[in-house]
Amino acid sequence: CADAAMFKAKELGRDNYRFYTAGLNERASELLALEGALRQAVDKNHLVVYFQPQVELASRRIIGAEALVRWQHPENGMISPVDFIPMAEETGLIVSIGEWVLRQSCLQARQWQVAGYPPMRISVNMSARQFRQKDLVPMVRRILQETGLSPEYLDLEITESILMNDVDGAVERLVELHSLGIQLSIDDFGTGYSSLAYLKKFPIQYLKIDRSFVRDVIIDPNDAAIATAVIDLARNMNLNVIAEGIEQQDQHQFLLDRGCGYGQGYLFSRPIPAHEFEQLLVRQQGV
Ligand code: C2E
Ligand code: MG
Ligand code: MG
Ligand code: MG
Repeated sequence: CADAAMFKAKELGRDNYRFYTAGLNERASELLALEGALRQAVDKNHLVVYFQPQVELASRRIIGAEALVRWQHPENGMISPVDFIPMAEETGLIVSIGEWVLRQSCLQARQWQVAGYPPMRISVNMSARQFRQKDLVPMVRRILQETGLSPEYLDLEITESILMNDVDGAVERLVELHSLGIQLSIDDFGTGYSSLAYLKKFPIQYLKIDRSFVRDVIIDPNDAAIATAVIDLARNMNLNVIAEGIEQQDQHQFLLDRGCGYGQGYLFSRPIPAHEFEQLLVRQQGV
């Protein structure tokens, strides 16, 4: 197909067109190969869920974990979700991957509870396609039943841009999800174009301040102003705030001083496999 297009382009004698077409076809076949590989990875159990602690900033105690998927490629090593989630979204593979991540996460949270660790929330990321999927609500209900996790410990993270894409549809969907008794968070808050007027319509409990504002919060007065405004907004609306991407002590202190309740970031821990996360829980209990 790539060759045919190239041949046709050559015939036409339009070099630019030729290169452009060849480039597109190359990309298309790369995507196709990647899609096939990801499909196999799903079948062969090459996906793995890592967990990043979410802590109370004042005490550094773990209050939850965000589930973050990785692809353990037999040759290429660990592949980041940013390199395959968009393609999974485009091809629809995200629906089965998302369901798998949700099940693994609920199972793991339940196992830790059964093992006697203090109950904590588990946060799972939703993609746009998943969020709009017709049977999302029954699917979540079924997974909670199957895994035995009580709904109040599950938190679904939905990005601001997904919600703003179709506000009325999003409100309806969030209300349905909320009626399951689960928690809801707006992820990457501040990076989209949210009209603050809509925020009050959403039955959410958490706002997550995007990492891009936390990174330079100490040196960039604009980022400091944005982070502070989000914290104030959340507090005034009775929402919890989680700051993402806290890497340094002074960022932690800044956010704590401004009244941000919770955070996650490399300062506390990177996303880690379940058995390592369990070590953190053990250490925290002082067992
Ligand atoms: P996100 O939901 O905003 O997740 C936070 C990302 O920030 C994670 O990247 C996490 O590893 C990273 N991070 C956390 N703390 C720090 C820090 O202190 N410094 C820096 N530089 N980075 C930090 P990750 O794991 O690569 O995931 C990237 C994105 O991929 C996620 O962004 C989320 O949008 C998506 N994603 C991951 N897992 C899933 C999934 O199961 N389903 C869906 N739909 N999306 C997922
Ligand atoms: Mg997230
Ligand atoms: Mg985020
Ligand atoms: Mg983010």
